[in-house]
Amino acid sequence: MPELPEVETVVRDLRPLLAGRTVVGVRHSAKKLRRPWRPAWNARVTGATVAGVRRRGKWILVDLLDAKRNPPVADAPGSPVLRVHLGMTGQFTVVPAATPEPDHLHLAFALDNGTDLLLRDPRRFGSAEWFASRAALEDEMNAELGPEPFGLDAAAFRDAVTGTARNLKAVLLDQTIVAGVGNIYADEALFRSKLHPARTGKSLAADECDRLRLAVEAVLTKAIASRGSTIRDYVGGSGLRGGFQNEFAVYGRTGEPCPTCTGAIACERLAGRSSHFCASCQKSSPQSKTKKATKARTV
Ligand SMILES: [Zn+2]
Repeated sequence: MPELPEVETVVRDLRPLLAGRTVVGVRHSAKKLRRPWRPAWNARVTGATVAGVRRRGKWILVDLLDAKRNPPVADAPGSPVLRVHLGMTGQFTVVPAATPEPDHLHLAFALDNGTDLLLRDPRRFGSAEWFASRAALEDEMNAELGPEPFGLDAAAFRDAVTGTARNLKAVLLDQTIVAGVGNIYADEALFRSKLHPARTGKSLAADECDRLRLAVEAVLTKAIASRGSTIRDYVGGSGLRGGFQNEFAVYGRTGEPCPTCTGAIACERLAGRSSHFCASCQKSSPQSKTKKATKARTV
């Protein structure tokens, strides 16, 4: 399933291909995506010019200039936005209009330079939606998503992690604590921080929280540099596959040697997901000598 590095790669690929382009037509299939595309949106998107492409969590946001306003305004709270999720197998790519139509195609946005922006998704867990205004979109997204993982506030992250009795795998998958991390990068970040995925959030000392926060950032940064991981159908916005699947330390490597100690990688189900870890490098009990800060009692 595409996670933050894959979505970021799609966004970076699409940005130069879409910026300044105008949508001249929309075609959509009758098959329903997880959140159905409404036919009425075809007319809203047609004639709109792309102001920019960005990412929030695992969502792709295509900012549009409102063609009905004169002059059109970018970056305004009232500008419309196209929001896309890749689900499990979604591909959002720009191809020459003459390219034969791929199977599992759900949406095709014809652009003014003879290219098409395509959303195909064999398993149909993805979606595309049109929002009338950036303000409406952000109201909805900010209610569901916590901060982005880059430059997280250290104190706020410690509070969020130690404030829960859930295990660390569940904590990292919780999009309200940090946005964009999924199964692959949760496992990789926990290995990098030498923390066992079954440890509870509240068992972590401050230095362990800091280690986890920095590991999340480092793993995601490395994965973006490799254009993400291609498992199943993922490709970037220009159709190229990712390469980070060749650098996994633990994810999907059950029984293979740990890159640090050569012990066998284990796999257990945690937070409803397969969790890969090294039982000898990632201790299940606290190793830190730093005592958790106890609150001073006032009498
Ligand atoms: Zn190990």
